[in-house]
Formats: sequence, C-alpha cells, structure tokens
Amino acid sequence: MATSEALLSPPVGRPALRRLSSMTATERDIEADDHFVVVPERLFHRRSKTHDGGFGSFATAIETARNELASMNLEDSSSSPSESSPETPGTPICTPPEIPSADTFAFAFDIDGVLIRGGQPIPEAIEAMKLLNGENEYGIKVPYIFLTNGGGKTEAERCVDLSRQLDIEVSPAQFICGHTPMREMVEKYNTILVVGGEGEKCRQVAEGYGFRDVVTPGDIIKDNEATTPFRKLTKEERENSRQRDSATTKIEAIFVFADSRDWAGDIQIILDLAMSKGGYIGTLSETFDEGPPIYFSHSDIVWSAAHDNVRLGMGALRRMIEMLFKDLTKGKELETIAFGKPQIGTFEFATRLLQQWRKDEHRINRPPETVYFVGDTPESDIKGTNQFNEKAKNTWYSILVRTGVYQEGTQPAYKPKVTVNTVLDAVKHGMARELKEKPKIYNGVLASNIAAISPFTLEREMKLPSRTTIEEMSESSTPSVSTPPRVHVS
Ligand SMILES: [Mg+2]
Repeated sequence: MATSEALLSPPVGRPALRRLSSMTATERDIEADDHFVVVPERLFHRRSKTHDGGFGSFATAIETARNELASMNLEDSSSSPSESSPETPGTPICTPPEIPSADTFAFAFDIDGVLIRGGQPIPEAIEAMKLLNGENEYGIKVPYIFLTNGGGKTEAERCVDLSRQLDIEVSPAQFICGHTPMREMVEKYNTILVVGGEGEKCRQVAEGYGFRDVVTPGDIIKDNEATTPFRKLTKEERENSRQRDSATTKIEAIFVFADSRDWAGDIQIILDLAMSKGGYIGTLSETFDEGPPIYFSHSDIVWSAAHDNVRLGMGALRRMIEMLFKDLTKGKELETIAFGKPQIGTFEFATRLLQQWRKDEHRINRPPETVYFVGDTPESDIKGTNQFNEKAKNTWYSILVRTGVYQEGTQPAYKPKVTVNTVLDAVKHGMARELKEKPKIYNGVLASNIAAISPFTLEREMKLPSRTTIEEMSESSTPSVSTPPRVHVS
C-alpha cells in the first residue's frame, strides 16, 4: 500500500503546538491545522485552582507559574498571551516542566474494547494513561500512539473525544483511524462514492482529505427514489443530499469510510455500482467486471460495543456484498480491498507515525526497539502485530486484553505474546518487562526496581480468578532479552 510522506512530513525543529480545550474546541479550531494537542478539562481547572491558591501557598503558585512560563514552547501567532484565558480554545497554556522519556520502547493502542467501550472509558484506561504520562516512580514518560479501525469522524474530532474520555492530551499526530490511509488516494480518483457514518460526516471527512467530487448514497436516492424501495430520505437528509444527474455521473471508486447506518440501502447501491457499466449509476454490465474498485476502511467482522455480546462490524458488510455479488452474477467473484488492521501497510504507516511522534514530542530521533501493541481482537490486533513483527526490524509485542472482543475461556485465533485483564495490566507488563530486564537510569533512578509497577501486584477491581490475571506464552516463543535490539533505520 502506498503511503503519504506529506502526512508525516517532519517539521523543522520541535513543532509549535496549539492547545485546545476538550470541552470548548470548535470545528473551526481543529480545522486550522494538525499541530495541536487537545487538553482535557481537568488540566485547565487544575491550573485555575493553582492560581487561586487551592493547591499550595501563593508563593508556590507564583514560582510554579514562573517555571511554567519559562518552559513554554508555543508559537501560535494567532493568539497573544494578553487575550488568553484558560477556557478559550487555542489558548497557549503553560507547558509542564520537562519530563524525560523512555527511549527504547513505546506503546500502540487499539481503542474500542481496550480504552473505550460503548462510548465510556474502561476505568483502568485512565490510570494506564497516567502511568505512561509520567505518573510512575521513575518520573518518565513513555511515547504512545493510537491505532483504531474505527472511524466516521475526522482524526482531529476523534482526538477531542479521546482527550475528554481519557483525561489526557491527545494530538492528531499520534492517531490513525481506519480511513486515514484513504487520504493517499485523492489524486487517483475524481468522483467517488462515500458510504457509512452519521449524516454528512463522512462526506466532510473525504472532502477534508482532498477528494474533489464526493457522492453519497443520499445523493443517489434523491435523484431516483426507486433506488431503495423501502428507504425514504428524511427532510434533513433530502436537504443535505446534493442534486446531480446520475446518468452522467461516473463513480470511479467506492470508499466505505465507517459503519453503515442503513445496511439494506447501502448494500443495494454498492451492488448496483459493482454490477454497472463502468461505474455509471443505473446501468447494468453484461460482463460484471467493469465496476469501480471498492475499499473498506477495515474488515473486522465484529467489534465490542455497549452490548454484552459483540456486534456486527464493517467486515460483515463486506462479506455480505461479496457473497451477494457472486449470487447475483451467477458465480463471478468480487474482489474488494480493506485497509486497517491486520493489513501490514497499516502497521508500516503506524511505524512512521510513531517515529515522527517520538521525534517531535519526545525529541527521540530513532525508532523504538520494542513496540507494545495492546488490542482486544485476535483477528486484527494480534494477527497484524504478530505478522508485522515477522518483517519489522524492531520487535512488535502483542498484548491481548479481556475487556473487549476476546472472550475468556475461548482459544484466540491468533496467539498474543501475553494475555492480561485490562489495559492497565498491559502497560504495567510492558513497563516491567522493559525496566526490569533492561535496567537503565531515568531521572537519576535505577529503573530495575520495579516493585511499584509489577503486573503481579494488580488484582484490583477485576473479579476474575487470580490465575487468569496474566498468561504468557512459553519462553521459547518470547524474544530473548539478551538478543541485541534490532533497530529500524529508515
Ligand atoms: Mg478493538
């Protein structure tokens, strides 16, 4: 899969970051550029209270403020300090004193079923993030990125959500979602059909990527209501859908950006185009081999939502379309393309993103020796990590959690290096493994004393038998720590 260097083009020196409030950031704020982090509500309030004297003496507050001002690295010319207030989006708030970063390892996280479930944070996720952000006995930060198959919003909007949900600062520069790689195809296709997501959202995402002519199923139904006999547009949908002449519109590619909200209608329209003469709506091919290519942002059959049992995902839609095409064409195969995990290209993309993030945010200009990938779906998270580990020059170490798709007592289709209860256990396992077996001095403290972050001290709230807390693969299948680190040089 081709990738865009433009997306990850390195800024000169350390990039200037705008800081947006997770509670008040607007679309206009986040559309301005990619160089920002989203600051959760808590951090704004903490700062306010400090200056109110709530967390210490007046003298301490002044000293803290002076230190923070001295360490500011904000170059947003659009807002001057005099007009800033902690509640104003885009406000350059003070940067905390410098905290050293772990330079030999990093984490990558799936989101649904690992950090978030049914729109709510998994409780241990917040503590796990605090550990990574320096709230550990060594006072070190550990770099991390997010790699989700989900989508349906812009990367920037999703970062605002994550910041609010997990109470951490999140930047679009550490975030990849299922449809992120689709932005690399804007030069290849002129007119495309975009499917899935809420209302007009995915059209906006596609146009934000640079696609020039974006058609939605709503546009097609608006032009000919007979397209979907049982699906009528609402008044709002009718107003938002664009009038166009389907007979002269050639759809060059179909992109399923996010989960369909109307499976019957979307399947009908995708199949109509797959069986069309060269992508012209309303035509029917005689050979059924001239339809536009169909891209899915991932191929997960199920995912972990609010319901106790897993729910059908985009991969299920993909299967249905392929099977129905075969039935309708009396045996023709439809080949579709999926991005996302477990595709190797997605992990290559993640490697470059992580390298850039470590360089820009942590000032580490070399790849990590080990990346701990934490996921809940064996078929995408674990399969992808294990396969990529086979070809990557550094180690990708798969960790499966029990808070999502994977069900305790079943045999995962792809075996992780280790299985733990929650993302907090995963972080503690990775940190313990690194700091115990590769002792190193961080902040003047020898990092081999890891009692406080041992995964085995963590029975906590999980009501699982203690024997299920952690399951590690046999030593023979775990990379030896005495093996010289394989460093990826690119
Ligand atoms: Mg997941």
